[in-house]
Amino acid sequence: LKHKAKRWAKDAADVKLAAVLGAGIMGGGVAYQSALKGTPIIMKDINPEGIALGLKEAKKLLLKRIDKGRMKPDQMADVLNSITPALNYGDFKNVDLVVEAVVENPKVKDAVLREVEGQVREDAILTSNTSTISIDLLAKNLKRPENFCGMHFFNPVHMMPLVEVIRGKKTSDRAIATAVAYATAMGKTPIVVNDCPGFLVNRVLFPYFGGFIGLVRDGADFQKVDKVMEKFGWPMGPAYLLDVVGMDTGKHAGAVMAEGFPDRMKHEGTTAIDVMFDNKRYGQKNEKGFYRYE
Ligand code: NAD
Repeated sequence: LKHKAKRWAKDAADVKLAAVLGAGIMGGGVAYQSALKGTPIIMKDINPEGIALGLKEAKKLLLKRIDKGRMKPDQMADVLNSITPALNYGDFKNVDLVVEAVVENPKVKDAVLREVEGQVREDAILTSNTSTISIDLLAKNLKRPENFCGMHFFNPVHMMPLVEVIRGKKTSDRAIATAVAYATAMGKTPIVVNDCPGFLVNRVLFPYFGGFIGLVRDGADFQKVDKVMEKFGWPMGPAYLLDVVGMDTGKHAGAVMAEGFPDRMKHEGTTAIDVMFDNKRYGQKNEKGFYRYE
């Protein structure tokens, strides 16, 4: 993979300043990781509370690093100062690459991507952290689809090494090369994949969630299923993983996967994820999902 990243390097634009749209679980993580590894980043949200949460999370992670002796205390301010919180597009003319990480809703993403395209330079690269939505669909209303690709980070961003860089039909080599180079600079392992609902990892993960949903419907105790999967060797079971992902994201992403692969991923009736979502048990983000996190 290192060899492949090198192969792309000649086409890559230099990312001196990045931006992330959405300061939630993923946007906050991308901002932290980018700043930690030396690429300053603007973190924009429409919600001041979201930004405050993103910064709080970054601070928490930095304090942990200091605690473990992996960072000197005087380096913390430098990292935090490389994250510029924003509620508007002020400095976006200087941005080389944008990671869109707003809610998993095609209409919202379409509007946000078109809006940001009007705010950045013509050569800036736009990427989406969508978990499941087709890159070609999101590129459809863009003026410069060649400058757009997927950049799918995994949760929690600071721990998960993989990044799927997704090539749409109109994506240029320069866009792919720049996303690969930026992911590499962030200390991640990029893989380049073609566009389809769910890309590679979620095409494996969602059928697994589907199996879990079926087991619960058949009467299985979700805590026991989690324990079994941990013994099987997974770092966490499916219910806990859904709490980490967030029930809203899981539900939206599940709907996109079911539409993309109806014969394999469509579930009849109400699922355990629907029940959690309808009861506002979104997972770790609001401290209650399958489990409680107070
Ligand atoms: P989240 O709900 O934690 O955060 C979304 C943020 O976007 C919120 O802070 C919200 O205020 C903000 N937002 C909404 N509209 C906006 C706009 N117009 N401009 C700027 N900010 C806006 O969601 P999340 O879990 O971080 O997911 C974000 C994206 O990342 C989704 O596409 C999701 O599918 C993807 N993703 C999520 C995970 C996961 O495990 N949660 C993993 C990989 C990818």
